[in-house]
Amino acid sequence: MAQPKSPESNKPDDRPSRIAREVESAIEPPQIPRQATVDRMRKFVASYCGKSGTATHPGEGVTDAVVMGLAYHKDTLGKPLCPCRFYPDKEEEKKHRTWMCACDDMQIYKYCHCLLFTNAEGLPITEHLPDDHEGRKIYGLVADPTPDKGRHLRDKAEEREKERRNRPS
Ligand code: SF4
Repeated sequence: MAQPKSPESNKPDDRPSRIAREVESAIEPPQIPRQATVDRMRKFVASYCGKSGTATHPGEGVTDAVVMGLAYHKDTLGKPLCPCRFYPDKEEEKKHRTWMCACDDMQIYKYCHCLLFTNAEGLPITEHLPDDHEGRKIYGLVADPTPDKGRHLRDKAEEREKERRNRPS
């Protein structure tokens, strides 16, 4: 698998393994998601890849880790809250649509910071992000191979940027 390089550090990107650790820490043992929920999330991921013209990450375990985290949140919160972020208060976060998979960044910019929805090489698409977005800083410009697909909320970019400034999360 080609290892993405960080334009800032020029070192191999360790984000896939960091994501697995982040998801692990979001799941509080001994609770594990129900198998039926895991299956449901897997189906959602396959279907959303088709809709958005993306692929799952080719690295072993990356997709499984994120799917487990999403299923865990679905079971415990009733919502597929993104498992790769820290929330001071998950119950409060539930009141917002921002990080419900597929999150606003995915539906507006086609950017998945969990690397669940990527291009064929396992890189997140950053082409549609604002220049100052963390994704651009980490990965540089990654072109969208299927610009005719996805971004169903592309008209909401202005609202998203306002929220990103006023409610950093
Ligand atoms: Fe998380 Fe958004 Fe990716 Fe879903 S689409 S896994 S919510 S970053």
